[in-house]
Amino acid sequence: MDRYAKQRLFLGREADGALRTKRVAVLGLGALGSVIAPWLARAGVGHLTLIDRDLVEASNLQRQLLYGEADLGRPKAEVAAQRLAEANSTIDLRPVVADLTSGNARELLSGFDLICDGTDNFEARFLINDVAILTGTPWIYAGAIGGEGLVWPLNPPRTPCLRCLLEEPPAGGDVDTCDSAGVLGPAVGVIGSWAALEALKILTGRAPHADLARFDFWEDERQFLSPPRTRCRFCTERITEFLDARWSLKASPLCGLEGVQIRVNPPARLDLDALKTRLELRTRGPWKRAGLMLKGQEGPDEITLFADGRALVHGPMSPERARSWYTEVVGC
Ligand SMILES: [Zn+2]
Repeated sequence: MDRYAKQRLFLGREADGALRTKRVAVLGLGALGSVIAPWLARAGVGHLTLIDRDLVEASNLQRQLLYGEADLGRPKAEVAAQRLAEANSTIDLRPVVADLTSGNARELLSGFDLICDGTDNFEARFLINDVAILTGTPWIYAGAIGGEGLVWPLNPPRTPCLRCLLEEPPAGGDVDTCDSAGVLGPAVGVIGSWAALEALKILTGRAPHADLARFDFWEDERQFLSPPRTRCRFCTERITEFLDARWSLKASPLCGLEGVQIRVNPPARLDLDALKTRLELRTRGPWKRAGLMLKGQEGPDEITLFADGRALVHGPMSPERARSWYTEVVGC
């Protein structure tokens, strides 16, 4: 039994063998990670660390190919590791159920040949970018929304970094999220497969594509943007503001009450009217705008959003889930 025969025929013995020695972190095991991680596992990448903070929910099953109905309520990282071990028992798999923050990003993402972004939020991507700048690790930005997506391999300082293009995460409420725009499963599937393909190039010593390529599969549009020509001070001077928590999204339990407080630093300027529309669509109930506040109900939780980006959640929601909710809805 030679499981890699077809791949070796294409890559050559040396490049194929190199994959067995590589260590890759896949951060986020939602729709993108569900495609990226299995391709890398089946290709025989020697070690995969699988990081995700969430549990499998019913609304994931439309596009997150690693999970089935029997997995509802289980940690995604653990289910993913189990599925991948079924596909390839010869590689080393390490599930990590954790929420990536400025406090643990360096520890969680160090010691890899490549970091694959399977997240849905900018906070995580700017943290990955900081770790990449600090440790010289290549990473692949991948994102999909609606019927479109983009893949951008980065390896600062040899290539520009994320901040060369986008100095800071977009203001909350300014960008579409899967929650506001929805997403088609096959579109994420193409983007995830493409990211995995670029990963195989990087891991076998071949240059990945350099353009910022964006495809809209639904509208049949393709854009190839040249990467930024000038380098930002963050990657040239190795300034890691996100790891240093000068920018952060923190969730902490409320003292003496069942609930969570979310704080963003620096303070945001949320468009509460746009968020009101988005939240009413999501929760199918009214949200009340009062001055610099927006208040409503999401399941059993009563949520208050403030224009400066703060949020108060009264109810059973955990701090980890509150951060997921916030990035899904507000989109930073
Ligand atoms: Zn830069």
